[in-house]
Amino acid sequence: MIAEVIVDVAAATVDRPFDYEVPELWQNLVVPGMRVEVPFGPRALLGIVVATKEESDLTRIKPIVRVLDEVPTYTEELLELSSYLSETTLCYQATALLAMLPAALKVSYDKLILTETARFSHWNRKKISQFPSEVQQEILLAARQGEVELQPVIKEKKTTKTDKRIRLLDPSVPLSSQATKQVLLRDYLIEQKETMWSQVMHELDLTLSIVHTLERKGVLSVETVDINRNPYEHLTQDIFTPARLTDDQQAAVDAITAPDETATFLLHGVTGSGKTEVYLESIHAMLERGRQAILLVPEISLTPMMVKRFKRRFGERVAVLHSGLSLGEKYDEWRKIAQGEVDVVVGARSAVFAPLTNVGIIILDEEHETTYKQEENPKYHTRDVATWRAAFHHCPVVLGSATPILETYARSQKGVYQYLPLKERFGGELPPVDIIDMRKELERGNRTPFSLPLIEGIKQRIERGEQTVLLLNRRGYTTFVLCRDCGETLQCPHCAVNLTYHQQADRLKCHYCGFEAAMPKECPSCSSKKIRQFGTGTQKIEEELAHLIPEAKIIRMDQDTTSRKGAHEKLLNAFERREGNILLGTQMIAKGLDFPNVTLVGVIAADATLGIPDFRASERTFQLITQVSGRAGRGELAGQSIIQTYNPEHYVIQTAKQHDYETFYNREMQLRKLGGHPPFWFLGLITISAAHPLEAQAEAEAIAAQLRHLESDDLVVNGPLDAPLARLKNMYRQQVIIKHKGQEEVREALRAMLALRIKQKIQVTVDLNPFVF
Ligand code: ADP
Ligand code: ZN
Ligand code: ZN
Repeated sequence: MIAEVIVDVAAATVDRPFDYEVPELWQNLVVPGMRVEVPFGPRALLGIVVATKEESDLTRIKPIVRVLDEVPTYTEELLELSSYLSETTLCYQATALLAMLPAALKVSYDKLILTETARFSHWNRKKISQFPSEVQQEILLAARQGEVELQPVIKEKKTTKTDKRIRLLDPSVPLSSQATKQVLLRDYLIEQKETMWSQVMHELDLTLSIVHTLERKGVLSVETVDINRNPYEHLTQDIFTPARLTDDQQAAVDAITAPDETATFLLHGVTGSGKTEVYLESIHAMLERGRQAILLVPEISLTPMMVKRFKRRFGERVAVLHSGLSLGEKYDEWRKIAQGEVDVVVGARSAVFAPLTNVGIIILDEEHETTYKQEENPKYHTRDVATWRAAFHHCPVVLGSATPILETYARSQKGVYQYLPLKERFGGELPPVDIIDMRKELERGNRTPFSLPLIEGIKQRIERGEQTVLLLNRRGYTTFVLCRDCGETLQCPHCAVNLTYHQQADRLKCHYCGFEAAMPKECPSCSSKKIRQFGTGTQKIEEELAHLIPEAKIIRMDQDTTSRKGAHEKLLNAFERREGNILLGTQMIAKGLDFPNVTLVGVIAADATLGIPDFRASERTFQLITQVSGRAGRGELAGQSIIQTYNPEHYVIQTAKQHDYETFYNREMQLRKLGGHPPFWFLGLITISAAHPLEAQAEAEAIAAQLRHLESDDLVVNGPLDAPLARLKNMYRQQVIIKHKGQEEVREALRAMLALRIKQKIQVTVDLNPFVF
């Protein structure tokens, strides 16, 4: 028996399965989808069996070293999906296969050596990688002859985890009133009687010493218990009552769950219009039919609140996958799915690969979010994978958003996707949006990043005991040039994108067509000298704010304050407990907007994203402002948004203020058409890296010249030009962009180009669906 095996070998020159002999012992036990360890040159590598057969065309083939699975890790569907991914994103099939697995199942190449015999005792319990390659060969030979045993080193061993059960013993023990955390925990226990440490730790932000102090005082008892790693265990106790759907919601659910429906739907509704209720009911209908569901959300939305809604609705049959879980927790969730113990998978991007076998619906919430695109190989967009899997399972796909990307909306207009609008916000109007012209603030002599109305607004909220969220739109940090008088940003004359300021060269450049200009001394449209690159950091903003409102308690959330695991949640919890008046941060605080006590949302430098050198800059800014201003005042209290900008008349700002997607769409589509951008064209982005700038340039020119042979009215090659990150990790980077109308031959040409370059050890990457520049 012969197995065809895809081997995880970096920089393979051919991307095809290799034949291996299946040893006697495993005959008939090895099936496609199993992970195996195979010899490859001097090494032993991880491989995945994709097919089996009786005979090989080759004469001398090596045997499989060991079989790592008892049951296949990959279903037939996922094996097929991996070839689709490798074909459409131009990556190795092995890369696609590995991208589908949680890290804990990606057996490390490294092997631990175990030996009982004296002859090899100097190898004992060492990693194979510690030895020079001749010795490695010797070890592998010895392993093949059964003289030593090799054990794969897995990054994290599956271990049982423990928690502490905390029970109330005696609430009458006197506590000093200064010990606020002790009092907090005692009062919590008076209400709840008992709890788990893992739960109160986050909810009440306690340290273990507080628990032990109370244990010593006899207030409570602590007992260590083994638990199955279920990170959301504490969320399943609530009882669920189904919502009565509105007519719009019901119409959407009916369309999505119609018998044998296989369409892709766009569920278009403002924040709070009840899209999540539509997801819940549609999933429920599919479960009733014995089918399963995948709900994809941007990483940022995977808050306990969101998970709670799903756990409450579907109980234990929900698995949650996201990057905040430990390797072991991910492994557990993944295993539960693979073994058919769950029917609903909720997760970020990679959850689209969840090994469910009877999928009845796939949903992408907030479909416009950039995190749905994977930026490393396989460079897939989650929407495409969802559509492929839905076709395999004959089931519908739902794309939900208040601000769908232009491609999606255009497809719904053409009838490729079915359009399902939710026209009203559930239970009320959208909160008012005030646009503040920051140029006027400057005229008044206000040089701080905060307008007077915003400062007044915040002070008012502090007095009333309400909270404010301040969002710093910081994506365009110091890269673009803005006139403080007329609000003009400098644009490329050919591309309708902003020019990027290059500090080293002190020049402006366009990353799409290569256009260059000197940094002007004055504004080309109003001749003002107040023209400069724009941007500011979170820490500096915090300092200025503390200076302006000394009584404010500010919680800052940015990369610095959230780098540790769980820090994100901790800060949000603290804010929810009202330990701060202001939550200040970049885009990552978006979920802080869902708290009922938040009645003011301010956006500082709303137009900063307009300055990104990306043709999607306007779209991203529109999305941000619409999303933010749809969120203030979600509770009983009325809300308000204040949007600060230097561009108050800009169509993006104006249409976002009115929540007018339609007008924005029409205007933006015209510009996209003029600029030759998606959705009118498809893009292919080729990035060439080399240690020497001339080398990168020469190679990029050769590639561009080669591709120019394909040029026609429907196919244009731009470049070469510097990549937005022209030098990265000491490599010089050049770009070639190919614009086309969806021709198959583009992929073929790029595949051939790529294969040749890899052979020559030239660093080239291709992204056939570039999403963030
Ligand atoms: P979206 O996902 O569009 O932002 P949600 O589904 O979160 O909107 O709905 C916003 C709020 O309105 C939630 O608190 C939700 O429970 C409530 N809601 C939505 N639809 C209904 C309904 N039909 N009946 C009762 N409450 C609803
Ligand atoms: Zn100007
Ligand atoms: Zn240009």
